[in-house]
Amino acid sequence: MKIRLTYFLALGIILSACTMTNDSDNHDHSNPFIGQWHTRYGTPPFDRIRNSDYLPAFEAALAEQNAEIKKIIVNDEPPTFANMIEAFERTGKLLTRVSNVFFAVNGANTNDTIQAIAKEISPRLSSHNDSIFMNLDLFNRIKAVNDSRDSLNLNTEQNRLLEETFKSFVRSGVNLSDSDQARLREINSNLATLSQKFGENLLAETNDLTVNTTNKEDLGSLPSSLVAVARNEAERRGEEGWTFTLSRPSINPFLQYSPNRELRKKLFNGYGMRGDNNNDHDNKVIAEKMASLRYQRAKLMGYPTHAAFILSDNMAENPKNVYELLDKVWSPALKVAKSERSALEDMMHQDGVQGNLEGWDWRYYVEKVRKARYDLDEDVLRPYFEVNNVRDGVFLLATKLYGITFTRLNDVATWHPDQQVFEVKEANGEHLGILYMDFFARPSKRGGAWMNALRSQSKLDGVVSPIVTVNFNFPPPAEDSPSLLSFTEAETLFHECGHAFHGLLSNVTYASLSGTNVPRDFVEFPSQVMENWMAEPEMLKLYAKDYQTGEVFPDELINKVKAVGTFNQGFATVEYIAASYLDMAWHTLKTSELQDARTLEVSEMTRIGLIPQILPRYRTTYFNHIFGGDPSYSAGYYSYLWSEVLDADAFQAFKETSLFDQETAKKYRYMLSQGGTRPGMELYKEFRGREPEIGPLLKRRGLDDVDQ
Ligand SMILES: [Zn+2]
Repeated sequence: MKIRLTYFLALGIILSACTMTNDSDNHDHSNPFIGQWHTRYGTPPFDRIRNSDYLPAFEAALAEQNAEIKKIIVNDEPPTFANMIEAFERTGKLLTRVSNVFFAVNGANTNDTIQAIAKEISPRLSSHNDSIFMNLDLFNRIKAVNDSRDSLNLNTEQNRLLEETFKSFVRSGVNLSDSDQARLREINSNLATLSQKFGENLLAETNDLTVNTTNKEDLGSLPSSLVAVARNEAERRGEEGWTFTLSRPSINPFLQYSPNRELRKKLFNGYGMRGDNNNDHDNKVIAEKMASLRYQRAKLMGYPTHAAFILSDNMAENPKNVYELLDKVWSPALKVAKSERSALEDMMHQDGVQGNLEGWDWRYYVEKVRKARYDLDEDVLRPYFEVNNVRDGVFLLATKLYGITFTRLNDVATWHPDQQVFEVKEANGEHLGILYMDFFARPSKRGGAWMNALRSQSKLDGVVSPIVTVNFNFPPPAEDSPSLLSFTEAETLFHECGHAFHGLLSNVTYASLSGTNVPRDFVEFPSQVMENWMAEPEMLKLYAKDYQTGEVFPDELINKVKAVGTFNQGFATVEYIAASYLDMAWHTLKTSELQDARTLEVSEMTRIGLIPQILPRYRTTYFNHIFGGDPSYSAGYYSYLWSEVLDADAFQAFKETSLFDQETAKKYRYMLSQGGTRPGMELYKEFRGREPEIGPLLKRRGLDDVDQ
């Protein structure tokens, strides 16, 4: 099996210092991770798993994989593809099973005990990983197979497995001298600790600041479903009135709707200064140290920068290609953002507020201009996007494209009562996999939206069907309102289901090459492509129905949504690309000397000419993608744009035929089913008959006819 260090650390972001507790009633409880799961579809027995089961399960799993590896090394037979590469692929099944469940739960429904376990286990997993991938005896046998690959008659997927396995060892430093390996282990372990601390600090800073108001006027035209959420938040904290937090689902609507400029400023600045307050939770030095350690690691591995090291294993290949793409989109986007700014500022002046538009005014006046220019209030869309209706829309789309169907299961154990579980079946009724959906924000869940696999598809030892989960932070239903999504949130639901289908439709032999186990800059392609269907008139008519009256999404609104088109895309593109440049600036450094975080950020933002009203989507001190959370996004934040070139171009294939064209869908499904068994570009070219073009992306973002 291929261990992804980054995966293990991926969800180590919400750990907080606390003492471990042991369940006292654990005496007669056998560990549910050990032995077969006799659940109907092989789903994890969440109803039987206790917090106290995780550590012993990890212990057993680490020991088991060590024993398995020892066994393949001492084999007297000469090394072959079967006794080395496939045998290695088979190791660590228990560890995968425990990790998949543990880190999924830690992300979506954590508590102090789980966080403490994550804190204890993450560095141990990191060193376990190093021990395997720096094991020279193991590597020499794998190398022997690799050296004779031309005479082995391997098929495409086998070749890929060999290549990827071999590469994992090389990229983990197996060829380094003993002293360099010792240094590498130290760097990896320091990075694991630092990124964990970064996440802890960020969580503390995010929870630290809230804004409470008892004045109803401060709510402006905030949608009633969100008023209820803010009211619940206040109640939870024992406060009067309404309380807003720095989490995205709370802060964004407040910035959009509250006429109280001072409160907007307070929340906006609170959000933008997270981790940069020179207090105990400051993240500047952590980021500085991580960039330095990553540079040192890249040097050890023979690369000039961390970005060069990372990109050499991605579609983009090198920093030059990344900068070329960013630059191409940046200049028209900045130009559009500047004209958006003047329109917003005009509106502000008309509103009787003099002076310059500020960052905390942007979203508020976007809503006003949207209303004035297009007569569209985002809020009138929400009733059409009740969460279950949108879910059914995604399901319907999948049925139309691939023939697959979804049946709700009510007897499968979940990690939280809010979770919904579905059996996914082929058109002919054959079982395909299981999909868990966890929609609502709650304090035990980290921010954002994500998909993960509880079990990857494979066929090495009989058919193993995939089990995947999608997780969101949608507004929870309140007493008098179901969960009504914004336009963007509805898009997010389509997006994450795109990842889920990538996992569910996988049809490969080896688990480590299946589903979403593809390069970082390819993985967002199958998810982003789904967003395209979400707002197509033909599609809206099928699923977007008023939750109270059942009224189908009206033509009048369709026309308005269409007219709004690329409105505010300058802003969205600029804030995203600014963060991508920032990521690259940190990771193309050619020095191990600590660089002052604020200075680096200011100088890079000055270089690209970012306007002061727009912050990069992530500033350094809360850039979880690259310093906390999942470190595999370091030198990888550009991936969304890279994938967007593919998704915009791929969707054209449907636009050129029809929205649910069966021939195109079949080719597309085939590409998805291949997982990581072939290079992304090769798969893409086979699907589209040519390389992707950037035109559709520029057009979609309204950047195609901007004079430069
Ligand atoms: Zn995604």
